[in-house]
Amino acid sequence: MTFEHIPYHRPDIELLKIEFSKLLADFQKSSGSAAKIEIIKRINKLRNDFDTQYNICHIRHTINTTNEFYERENDFFDNQMPEFQNLINQYYRLLSHTSDRKELTLHLGEQLFDIAEMSLKTLRPDVIEDLQKENVLVSEYRKLKASAKIMFRGKEYNLTGLGPSMLSPDRDTRREASEAHWKFFSDNSEKFDQIYDQLIKNRTLTAKKLGFRSFTELGYLRMLRPYTQERVAGFREAVLKHIVPVSETLRRRQIKTLGVDKLMYYDISLYFKEGNPTPKGDAQWIIANGRKMYAEFSKETGQFFDFMISRELMDLENKQGKAGGGYCTYIANEGSPFIFSNFNGTAHDIDVLTHEAGHAFQVYESRGHHIPEYYWPTNEACEIHSMSMELLTYPWMAFFFKEETEKYKFSHLAGNLLFLPYGVTVDEFQHLVYAHPLATPKERNAMWRATEKKYQPHIDYGDNDYLDNGAFWQKQAHIFESPFYYIDYTLAQICAFQFWQKANINRDAAFADYLRLCQAGGSESFENLVKYANLESPFQDGCVEKVSKQVYEYLNSNPVN
Ligand code: ZN
Repeated sequence: MTFEHIPYHRPDIELLKIEFSKLLADFQKSSGSAAKIEIIKRINKLRNDFDTQYNICHIRHTINTTNEFYERENDFFDNQMPEFQNLINQYYRLLSHTSDRKELTLHLGEQLFDIAEMSLKTLRPDVIEDLQKENVLVSEYRKLKASAKIMFRGKEYNLTGLGPSMLSPDRDTRREASEAHWKFFSDNSEKFDQIYDQLIKNRTLTAKKLGFRSFTELGYLRMLRPYTQERVAGFREAVLKHIVPVSETLRRRQIKTLGVDKLMYYDISLYFKEGNPTPKGDAQWIIANGRKMYAEFSKETGQFFDFMISRELMDLENKQGKAGGGYCTYIANEGSPFIFSNFNGTAHDIDVLTHEAGHAFQVYESRGHHIPEYYWPTNEACEIHSMSMELLTYPWMAFFFKEETEKYKFSHLAGNLLFLPYGVTVDEFQHLVYAHPLATPKERNAMWRATEKKYQPHIDYGDNDYLDNGAFWQKQAHIFESPFYYIDYTLAQICAFQFWQKANINRDAAFADYLRLCQAGGSESFENLVKYANLESPFQDGCVEKVSKQVYEYLNSNPVN
């Protein structure tokens, strides 16, 4: 069945509660692990049914945020999701107190019990209302950004649509397009501040009710992290020490390549004077080449991509009213991943395609897990699949970029390295924000600007006061939508670089490790998965230094510019 034909119906939440509670009572009464496993299967079936409808709604709502039907359905889920999570938590409570734990662990794995214990600390019935409010605020942020209608040189664009002009080789064009882009944010700056202000207060209140000192501790548990804030701080420190200096060297090289006197904020994404490489065809052409690429890549990826095409599980082109960004999700009852993106004719289209295909390939390879918790791992591990896929597909980039292939590989790899200082900026900023929940918008902007200067000292905002005063963060969706989800990309990038290095030496061995990692899904914690894939943990002393040095040496010796 193609995506379009998958039926949607709003889950009957009252009926779900009755059925779920009955199964929980049965679980409590049952004796022996075999009986309990049977009940868990039925509980998971109910969860998959609900989750399937949620994802169909989410996909259709984000494809067209102006569709009133799915907007109403999205509101329904914003409201019901915390209730649903509360039901799951009741299951987790029984699971973590069961007398058959040892026996059940043998069948279900340790990771499920770790997830259950962490999740239990993040939710209680008395915070459900706060979580509902949080969801409404997140939807408000999403809608505000999707509503952007920006006039530029007589034509109307949404945020993604302006992308190509912001990368124009003509400096005046990219400056004016950037100014138009940021003017939308600056015009709505107070609205963004209001939404974030309420989110911070709301999250802090939730954390206090649950007995935490600040939201940060709760944020880590929501991300299901067994590791501490100190280890993350140590990782950021390693980025500062080993990556920031080479990033600054790359930026100086960029100034020379572009032939500009200094690198302004509207120059930083342009790597070549004559323009960044672009894909040489439209979305349909990209998909056709993607199919060819994945067929050659491996038997497994070939089957996977055919599945995505035949069931129409991708919505890739930018359209008015479509939500921004890209994502991959999973429709459990169909065993179908779904890829969402906003192609705009830049090289980013290919990055997004390979990135989201990495996520989709993992979940497709993990669809045999019977435990929903294991469809996906935690986010830092998820981003290894996606970010590694971007790099493992390098041998096929000529399909998309033709004579500009080497340029693409250079700018993509350099971009990945240069991303790391930005990624830790987003993370450190959020730690500051939740440590000072009463800060004013102005104070918050000052925190951002100071952190930015620490990790990305080259940034020059010229006379753009909105950015120079520290409001860049307002465009970063994760800060609003998924607090503390960002360091994940940087941890995963260090792992993905290792896959790239391995593939340069022995492609088959690298793919074998990659496939095994994808098939493991979420059955283990991040660091266990890293070990399982024969990678070094980014938290390990010396790892960031060693990995980034090899990438930098490659870039440094690359004659592309
Ligand atoms: Zn991703």
